[in-house]
Amino acid sequence: METHLADHIRDSDVGREAEAILRACVHCGFCGATCPTYQLLGDELDSPRGRIYQIKEVLEGKRPTRVTQVHLDRCLTCLSCETTCPSGVRFGRLLEIGRSVVDQSVARPLLERFVRATVRETVSRRVLFGGLLRVARALRQLLPARIQVKFAVRRSAGSIPSSGHARRVILLTSCTQGALLPAVDYAAARVLDRLGVAVVVDPTAGCCGALRAHLSDLEGARVAARRNVDAWWPQVEAGVEALVMTASGCGLQVRDYGRLLAAEPAYAERAARLSALTLDLSVWLAREWSRLPLPVVAMPPVTVAFHAPCSLQHGQQINGVVEPLLVALGARLATVREAHLCCGSAGSYSLLQPTLSAALRKRKISALTAGAPEVILSANVGCLAHLEPATAIPVRHWIEWLDERLSQALN
Ligand code: SF4
Ligand code: SF4
Repeated sequence: METHLADHIRDSDVGREAEAILRACVHCGFCGATCPTYQLLGDELDSPRGRIYQIKEVLEGKRPTRVTQVHLDRCLTCLSCETTCPSGVRFGRLLEIGRSVVDQSVARPLLERFVRATVRETVSRRVLFGGLLRVARALRQLLPARIQVKFAVRRSAGSIPSSGHARRVILLTSCTQGALLPAVDYAAARVLDRLGVAVVVDPTAGCCGALRAHLSDLEGARVAARRNVDAWWPQVEAGVEALVMTASGCGLQVRDYGRLLAAEPAYAERAARLSALTLDLSVWLAREWSRLPLPVVAMPPVTVAFHAPCSLQHGQQINGVVEPLLVALGARLATVREAHLCCGSAGSYSLLQPTLSAALRKRKISALTAGAPEVILSANVGCLAHLEPATAIPVRHWIEWLDERLSQALN
């Protein structure tokens, strides 16, 4: 795509990056076939190609309007378009640049500013979010129905092993997951313990920064990245093998720290090393599975529908890694149509775009339940919290299911 960027951005690093991305797009429109918002709304301006055009126009000097901002806001950043694009267009990075430029010129309505600031400053702070969650659960009946369901998801975490294994990995207990679904990290710690690996949880590490990045607070995302690099680096020097992520959205963000802090000499090298050490739990477990002494047991089959979060299948391009682990412990995988489509959770999207989010959830639940599964499994706290209140079928993180199955097989 031929571009002529405006003088104020043309010679900057961001301008050169945006121009390279824009030039890669051959405006074939293939990406529209897998874009959830285009599928729902049928408006070219809500397709990846339409958004690319709008960003191009803004970077070429056209004054953005509230309409431009709305079409960019409606994007889920699911990155399904990146998976589909035959030209390798890095849509997610272009959108990040486009949103940032548009937000500098177009003021948002007051209420929207308040909601975005509230989400940004509460959900990403684990202690504050945990406290608010306890209050919200106590006062649940007084809250709007769409907010009530966010707090419905609860289950016992069980116990966490106090292992003294020599092998260690860092576990990021994410801000949202740590408060909303601590059972996931406990289950991960138990499975790792069975495999002879201890988890290190650094209390000074915090939110990965993904939520702030989603809300165009790129400096806030960098602050989070710097804090976590400082928190984890001593453990890296002490010999941890990996940073293991149980939330695929956080994993995607931490794997991006190297790029995010590349221009900061005090952090660039350490951030790149940490990103390289970061693995989704499924990838780590798949590598270890065959080398570790798990007994082979015949488990009674369970029909399972697996929902691969966008941050796993599109963001990290991890496909077909979780499923064999489930099958090894007796899962019978249900076929799920439109498996590439987002469930509508998408970070803060379910709070900021409730109508589109609800439509996508309905579509996803219909697809996931079509094969009559006994349980729905996923890999990201946002998807779990979004899907669970919408179905009577249990929704769990896959590591919780694996932990349960291992307990049945081994205890
Ligand atoms: S599929 Fe890729 S090259 Fe084609 S319009 Fe979409 S982003 Fe551009
Ligand atoms: S990131 Fe997702 S919602 Fe946004 S344009 Fe791409 S496919 Fe559509």
